[in-house]
Amino acid sequence: MDKKVSLLIFCFSCLFIGCPPAPTDTLETAPPATTAPVTGTAPATAPEIPAPDNRQRRPKNIILMIGDGMGISQITAGMYSNGNRLNLERFPVIGLHKSYSSDNLVTDSAAGATAFSAGVKTYNGAIGVSRDTLPVVTILELAEAAGLPTGLVSTSSIVHATPASFIAHNRYRKNYEEIAADFLKTEVDLFIGGGARYFNRRESDTRNLVRELQARNYLVENFVEKDIQEIRPDVSKNYAYLTADSEPLPFAQGRDYLVPAAAMAPGFLDRRDTKNRGFFLMIEGSQIDWGGHANNSDYIISEMIEFDNAIGEVLRFAAADGETLVIITADHETGGYAIQSGSKMGEIDGAFTSDYHTADLIPVFAYGPGAEHFSGIFENTAIFDQMKKLFAFD
Ligand SMILES: [Zn+2]
Repeated sequence: MDKKVSLLIFCFSCLFIGCPPAPTDTLETAPPATTAPVTGTAPATAPEIPAPDNRQRRPKNIILMIGDGMGISQITAGMYSNGNRLNLERFPVIGLHKSYSSDNLVTDSAAGATAFSAGVKTYNGAIGVSRDTLPVVTILELAEAAGLPTGLVSTSSIVHATPASFIAHNRYRKNYEEIAADFLKTEVDLFIGGGARYFNRRESDTRNLVRELQARNYLVENFVEKDIQEIRPDVSKNYAYLTADSEPLPFAQGRDYLVPAAAMAPGFLDRRDTKNRGFFLMIEGSQIDWGGHANNSDYIISEMIEFDNAIGEVLRFAAADGETLVIITADHETGGYAIQSGSKMGEIDGAFTSDYHTADLIPVFAYGPGAEHFSGIFENTAIFDQMKKLFAFD
C-alpha cells in the first residue's frame, strides 16, 4: 500500500476506533489539561503567552530534586549502567533550562541554586543574594511565611551551595559558619545533611547551634549516635539529622542515607502539614558533581544511580498522594562528560573535557499536577517562577 494512503487510513481509524493505548509504564494518570510553556524570564522577543489556567491542576506539595552536575551524559551513563532503566523514564514531561549565571556562561552551584530558589540570575558564589549582594526571598522562605512545612536533604554538607541557597543569604558560598547561623532565622521543619562542625564546633564564635536548635523545638540527631535506619523523627517537633562532621562520604565508600531520607521526608512533612496547606521539600544528590570534578566515571555512575533510587522513593509518595508536583533537574553539567566509542551496555568508557562545570542546556523532568508547565526550553529562573505561581504565593 502507498505510504500516504496507509497513514490516512491509520489516522481515520484512530478517529473511529480510537488510538493505540498509551504506554502503561508512565505514572501519569491523566493527560495534562494545558500545555503552556514556562514563561520565566523569556527574551523580549518571545511572544506573549496567556497565563495558564491552574485551577484544576495546582499541586499542594512541591518536591524539587537537584542532581548537582547531572547533565544528559551523567543520566545516560547511569541508565546504561543500571540495566538500561532509570526512574527518570517515568516522568511524562521533560524540558531544558539555560543554566548561565549573571557573570559567567558557566554557572557554579551557588548561582545555579539561587536561580531555582529565588528566581534571580546572580554571580557565581552568591548564596540567596542578588548580583548586588542583597538578600532575595526564597521559595522556602515564602513557603514558611505561608505556613507550609519545609525540608532540605543533601548528600553534601547542609551549608554547601545548593541547600544553602534555599535558606541562607551570603555574599560568598564558603562562609559556612555564617550560613549555618541562617538556619536559625527560618524555621525549616526538616534538614538532613553533613556539616555538623559548622553547628557545634564553630571557630568564628562560641555559639552552639545544635543547642539553639534544640531550644527551638528541634530534635537534632547525628551520624555518630544513630544510623539513618534507626532515626525516628517526632512529627510534633522539627527534625535535623547531621550526617557527617564536614562533607559526607561518596556512596561507594558507604554513605547510605539519601534513599531512606527521600523515603521518609515527604511523609514527615505531610504529617507536619496539620493545616493541610502543602509542603516544600528540596532533595539534592550532591556528589554527581564531585565525580565530574574528579573526572571519575564510576563515581558519577554510582552517585547517579543512588540519586535515581531516591527519585523512585519520591515518586512512590507522589503517586499515592496525587497532589504532589515532583521536579527533577540539575544546576549545571560537570566535567564535559561524554560516553566514548567502545562503551557497552553496563560498561561505560567515560571521557572528560574539563574538571569544572560546562554551560550545556540542562534537562528538567516533571511529574504530577502542574507538570505541564515544565516543557520546552526556558531560563533556570523559570523553575522558581513556576513553583511560586503553582503555590499561589503572589
Ligand atoms: Zn561543582
